[in-house]
Amino acid sequence: QAYLDLIKAKDSTYNSYITVTDELALQQAQAADERRQQGKATALTGVPIAHKDIFCTLGVKTSAGSKMLDNFISPYDATVVSNFNNAGAVTLGKTNMDEFAMGSSNENSYYGACRNPWDTARVPGGSSGGSAAAVAAGLAPAATGTDTGGSIRQPAAFCNLTGLKPTYGRVSRFGMIAYASSLDQGGPMARTAHDCALMLNVMAGIDGNDSTSADHPVADYTATLDQPLSGLKIGLPKEFFSEQLNPEIATLVQSAIKEYEALGATVKEVSLPNTALSVPAYYIIAPSEASSNLSRFDGVRYGHRCSDPKDLEDMYKRTRGEGFGSEVKRRILVGTYALSEGFYDAYYKKAQQIRRLIQQDFVRVLSDVDVIMGPTTPTTAFNIGEKTTDPVEMYMEDIFTLSLNLAGLPGMSIPCGFSNGLPVGLQIIGNYFAEEKLLNVAHKYQ
Ligand code: GLN
Repeated sequence: QAYLDLIKAKDSTYNSYITVTDELALQQAQAADERRQQGKATALTGVPIAHKDIFCTLGVKTSAGSKMLDNFISPYDATVVSNFNNAGAVTLGKTNMDEFAMGSSNENSYYGACRNPWDTARVPGGSSGGSAAAVAAGLAPAATGTDTGGSIRQPAAFCNLTGLKPTYGRVSRFGMIAYASSLDQGGPMARTAHDCALMLNVMAGIDGNDSTSADHPVADYTATLDQPLSGLKIGLPKEFFSEQLNPEIATLVQSAIKEYEALGATVKEVSLPNTALSVPAYYIIAPSEASSNLSRFDGVRYGHRCSDPKDLEDMYKRTRGEGFGSEVKRRILVGTYALSEGFYDAYYKKAQQIRRLIQQDFVRVLSDVDVIMGPTTPTTAFNIGEKTTDPVEMYMEDIFTLSLNLAGLPGMSIPCGFSNGLPVGLQIIGNYFAEEKLLNVAHKYQ
C-alpha cells in the first residue's frame, strides 16, 4: 500500500508506469502475509516488483508501449512473471518503455516520454526507461527489464542503478513480447548487485516453453557475492575508450578500475577490433528479426484494428499504419528491405558474418581475462528531445552495449559516480553463464 500511495502521489512527474495493478498488488500482498505466517516465505515473498510492460501479465494490459496493444489484456503470464508470483512477490504494475523495446530514451512510447528522476528534463534511457525511473524515484524497490542491445544497462547507467543482462538463454523469453528473438534477454534492475542476485535466483532457468532457454544449472547467485577478488584479471578494451567517450565518464570509469586494483585485481589493455561494426550489424539484424516478429500484429487476432475496413488489405494497411509509431515503422521497413530477395546476401548475411567476428573477438579476449570493463554509455542522460531528430545519433548511444548481445554474453552496469550531477555507469562483461562472477565483482565495489 505504501508503494501504491507513493506511485499515486509522485508518478505524474515521472510517467514511469503505464499501468498500476492496485488490486492485484494488494491481493498478492495479502497472500504473501499469509505465506509468511505459515513459514513458507522465500526471500522475495511480499517484495513489490514492477514489470516492464513487455512481459505478459495475466488479466492485465500488456502494451509493449504501443498503440497496437493498447487494448490487449494478456490471457497468460510470462514465465518471468509467474516465477516472481511463485516466489510470492507482489506486482506493483507495468512500466513505461520504448514501443516494442525500440529505442534508447523511452521517447518512442505511445504513452509519452518518461522522465529521469535525477533531472526531469532528461531521459531515463531506454528501452526499459520506466523500470529504471520507477526504481530510481523510489516507486518500486526493483523492476524487470529486457535488453536486446543495451536496454537494461543503459537506463541503469542513466538512473544510477545496477542492471544485469544475463547470458542469452539464461532467462526464459516465453511471454516476453518479441523484438529481436536472437538478442532479447530479460533481466533484473535494482539498486544493488545483491538485489539483482535475489531476482536472478527466481528469473533464471530452463523453460519448456522457450526452446532457446538454456539447460544450464542455476546457482544461488547470492552465495558467492562476497568472494575475494584477488587474482581477478580485468581487460580494458581500447576501443571502448575512444574519442566518442565523454572524458569525465572516462575518468570515473578509470577510477573505479583503480579501486578494483586495490581489491587485488590486475588490469590489462585488450582489443575488440570489430566494436565499431556492432552498430551497423545490429541495426540490420535487429530490424530484420523485428520485421518478421511484428508481422503478427495484423488486426486479425488481437490488438488494434482500424475501424470499418473495406477489405482485408485495407484492414492490414490501416491497422498497421495506425497502430505502429514511426520508429517501429522505420525498423520494419529497414528489416523488410534487408531480408528481401537480391539484398539478403549484401545486408542480412553480411551482418551475420560480422556478428560472428564480434563474438570471436570476445571469446578470444575472455580466454585471457575474467571480465571486461569499460563505460556503459558514451554520454550521461541527455535532454528529452535532444536526439529525436537524428536516429543515427540515437543509435550511437548503444555503441558499448550492443556488441555483447550480438555475442550472447552477460553484462552489467553498476553506478560509478556522477558527472555534472548525472549518474555514470561502469559496464562489466563476463563469459557465458558467468553471472555469479559478474554479481560478485559488482557487489565487491558496492
Ligand atoms: N537501443 C537499442 C534499440 O533501439 C536497444 C534496445 C533494446 O535493448 N531493447 O534497438
